[in-house]
Amino acid sequence: MGDQQAMTGPHPLDTAAARRVVERADTEGVELVRFLYADHGGVIRGKATSRPRLAERLHTGIGHTVAMMAMNMLDELQDVESLGPVGEVRLVPDPATFVHLPYAPGAAAMLADLRQVDGSAWPVCPRTFLREAVAALAAEGHALVAAYEPEFTLGRREPAPAGGLDRLVPADDSLCYSSVGFNQLHDYTMTLIRALESQGLRPEHYHPELGHGQHELSIRHAPALRAADNHVVYRETVRGVAARMSMWASLAPKPLADQAGNGAHLHLSLWDPGLRANAFGDPSDRYGMSATAYHFIGGLVAHLPALTALTCGSVNSFRRLTPRSWSSAYACYGMDNREAAVRICSPTGRDAAASANLELKPSDSSANPYLSLGAVIHAGLDGLRRGLDPGDPVDVDPATLPAGRVRRLPASLDEALDALEADDVLMDALGPLRASAYLAVKRSEARSFAAQDAAYEMFHHFRVF
Ligand code: GLU
Ligand code: MG
Repeated sequence: MGDQQAMTGPHPLDTAAARRVVERADTEGVELVRFLYADHGGVIRGKATSRPRLAERLHTGIGHTVAMMAMNMLDELQDVESLGPVGEVRLVPDPATFVHLPYAPGAAAMLADLRQVDGSAWPVCPRTFLREAVAALAAEGHALVAAYEPEFTLGRREPAPAGGLDRLVPADDSLCYSSVGFNQLHDYTMTLIRALESQGLRPEHYHPELGHGQHELSIRHAPALRAADNHVVYRETVRGVAARMSMWASLAPKPLADQAGNGAHLHLSLWDPGLRANAFGDPSDRYGMSATAYHFIGGLVAHLPALTALTCGSVNSFRRLTPRSWSSAYACYGMDNREAAVRICSPTGRDAAASANLELKPSDSSANPYLSLGAVIHAGLDGLRRGLDPGDPVDVDPATLPAGRVRRLPASLDEALDALEADDVLMDALGPLRASAYLAVKRSEARSFAAQDAAYEMFHHFRVF
């Protein structure tokens, strides 16, 4: 079934894939299957079906209240028109995403779309948003390939000595890239790698990061929808494996105020629809990048302030995006510039043109990956359509340039949301219902955390992400 049908017609279930899922559940002793989705707060939620009901639920989905897309990350329900107590959607799983959960014996999971009761697409579904962005890009002759490079903090969740909110106590105090760090967390790392591999993810590189308890493990690139699905599986697995080992892992952007933040840098390249040729590569250019790549960069840089409202979706995100923390704080691009929001990466493969890619640094794991990646595609696409010129690259730390030379990224979630509301391209792409729900949820988070202190913000973000 084509994407077009998937978006507009009734639920186009791949019956052969559904049959294979039921067979696997039977032979692998699965008793419970989680149907997971990511909400407007960036939280991964779901409902599970028992195995005897699986075959039917693959077709019908599981009923769910529309209101959950008006829920924020503190479980505070927002007033959003048509997302209240009346109304129903279905969590309809994609059989291609079935994974047996290595950290939850007896359980499996699939990523789900939110569909209307008659099976047609629901205009609020985040996975549908990404699918539609992929289709819009395909109409221009391109496919996006993406890879996340996530960081996370591993530790223990402990009661604060004087009572109050729990604290995250990091599991190591090793130095950046240090061999001591490799050894200290070896058992966890090996368990995590095996758990990811058993679910079809392909770990690429691993190292102990700068922050205490901070580690980075990147996953091989994949077409956009699969990359976003993979990132949900990754988030679940990092935390699930830690819980099984009596630890607490957090992918929150800044779980510890005095330690480096956790990014989920996003690597991007455009290909032809058959994924044979990288449209970003051009060996004749000084940085090896094609005109297409520069237009895409132009789109990203132009929309960056608004984009951060979706790629760095939490209040805590903006504690990470500060100058001189290698997370990026300026809307600029540069060749191998780790303080620029968009880095042109020097080629790593034997075939330089095939490995051409961009790295978006203002991206973290508190974002809804479907909204985030979909918005990145729309921003880039706008650059392609308008032939945007990104201007000159920045080849120094932008913090050292005279004030005003490069635009600062938004310094708070509210500032980013203001930019989003002023960005017609992204607002049109989101559509009125999704946009109003997203803004209501995120504005409410900004309000709730503004009324509390930093410890409260840290606690709620390491608890949820
Ligand atoms: N921890 C940094 C961030 O928040 C990234 C460090 C690096 O991998 O360069 O994005
Ligand atoms: Mg890193």
